[in-house]
Amino acid sequence: MTRKEKEEALDKLHKQIEKADLPLKTAASRLVPGEGNPNADVVFVGEAPGVEEDKQGRPFVGAAGKFLNQLIESIGWKREDVYIANLIKHRPPNNRDPLPIEIEAYTPWLDKQLDIIKPKLIVTLGRYSMAYFLGEGLSITKVHGQPKRKGGRVVMPMYHPAAALYRGDLRPVLAAEFKKIPKVLEMIKEGKVADSDKEKQPVGVTAAPEQQRSLL
Ligand code: URA
Repeated sequence: MTRKEKEEALDKLHKQIEKADLPLKTAASRLVPGEGNPNADVVFVGEAPGVEEDKQGRPFVGAAGKFLNQLIESIGWKREDVYIANLIKHRPPNNRDPLPIEIEAYTPWLDKQLDIIKPKLIVTLGRYSMAYFLGEGLSITKVHGQPKRKGGRVVMPMYHPAAALYRGDLRPVLAAEFKKIPKVLEMIKEGKVADSDKEKQPVGVTAAPEQQRSLL
């Protein structure tokens, strides 16, 4: 598909999402489908819209979004170069964590977006997005920054930028991992990213203080 065809396909898909009977639709003010370059090599996938995203209908436009923009710019890219989306496309009440049934209801729409965009790399932001793409039982504290090939996709899990706003020690970690993205893209083109199904997976989620865990 050309860039224009992808753009049209995404617009059509977003109209379908708008009409779908989704669990958080009535609780939220607006749909936040995602935005960016329909031909992007890299798609960033966060968790769910927050209050500002719910107002504007755009992903990552609050405080975490400002930090995400800075991270993207730190590698010489612009926000418009990439695509930004979320697992969940309506704001959960009071920003609570998404429920399994909600993840199940919304992620087929995310998969359809990814089928259109066909990115070379998916960067997951936070543990929910990581768990969706790489499976439950992984600890973000162990696998962040390590790209894995899984189910025909290459996925690089990262901490959520909102977590780094609360925990200053995560900021340089995220910054260093963003710097790796162009190199990871090169490795993908050369077929040098390991298949996660062939590796021993760390099991269990390492304990983190309660208020941090929902952000990681
Ligand atoms: N956090 C997310 O996970 N997504 C957004 O769009 C904003 C904040």
